[in-house]
Amino acid sequence: MDAELSSVETLMGPVAVTALGRTLMHEHLFNVGEEFQRNYVPEWDEDAAIQEVVDQLTELKALGIDTIVDPTVLGLGRNIERARQVGARVDVNVIVATGVYSYDSVPQQFYFRGPGMAFDEPEPLTALFVKDISEGIGETGVKAGLLKCAIDKPGLTAGVERIMRAAGQAHVQTGTPITVHTDAETKTGLIVQRVLAEEGVDLSKVVIGHSGDSTDLDYLCALAEAGSLLGMDRFGLDLFCSFEDRVATVIELVRRGFAEKIVISHDYACCNDLFPTEGRGNVLPDFHIAHISRDVIPELLRRGVTEGQLDEILIHNPARYFSRG
Ligand SMILES: [Zn+2]
Repeated sequence: MDAELSSVETLMGPVAVTALGRTLMHEHLFNVGEEFQRNYVPEWDEDAAIQEVVDQLTELKALGIDTIVDPTVLGLGRNIERARQVGARVDVNVIVATGVYSYDSVPQQFYFRGPGMAFDEPEPLTALFVKDISEGIGETGVKAGLLKCAIDKPGLTAGVERIMRAAGQAHVQTGTPITVHTDAETKTGLIVQRVLAEEGVDLSKVVIGHSGDSTDLDYLCALAEAGSLLGMDRFGLDLFCSFEDRVATVIELVRRGFAEKIVISHDYACCNDLFPTEGRGNVLPDFHIAHISRDVIPELLRRGVTEGQLDEILIHNPARYFSRG
């Protein structure tokens, strides 16, 4: 299909890929443990939580960001009904995902079901992913615009491999792009490329997430040369890599000709229970949804990245990733 004619599903329905505008490729509206919240957070206020996220996305739009990609899947507390209430109240496109976030085993619901298992059947994860993409998530009517899986320090465990191959198969069936949480330190992006290529995945439709935690240019260039996009996507999360290292690495990749292989984001969760509310500003002062607009973009421009290269990173690379064919 012609790229101009392609559209991608969002919380509020399909949007032409050419209309996505400036896109942050890895953010979360909510990262809240549903089970934890029901059992241990009696003070949870649903309306206040939604308002908190609406306010941040309204600010983000005013700063010139038009679209965010939210890869909150099973294992991260996905709640599309709640996300949709945000989507209805903001002027930012939100592309949501299907998949599973696990560093180790498949979710308990799949321990006994699947190929060669006690309840022998074709991989049920693949069918669920395809359902989310083609029919919609739950009863919401919201369709997933991308697939998500993860591989961290434990490497390619049996469960991680099962989820990754299911995501690969759902990509082959539907053409939907994939984003993968990886561990840059142990270079698990290389494993992702091998496994997904074995499943027949187009590696140009794969974001190697959290590549920005690395300053290892040999590793990053190898991933980009194999065709994938580098998720330089934890700006502000200085626990893993400093602002200076993150910016310098992007600039060097651009200098080496990889502007077409970079996407940027914060991996911020507008409402989350990952960090205690108190003291958050002291530990992670720059970890907020406006950091890229306020600090990162001006710094990249100041240090020689051109407006055209910035458009590649923020507009054209996301559009190409989400376009079909
Ligand atoms: Zn994330």
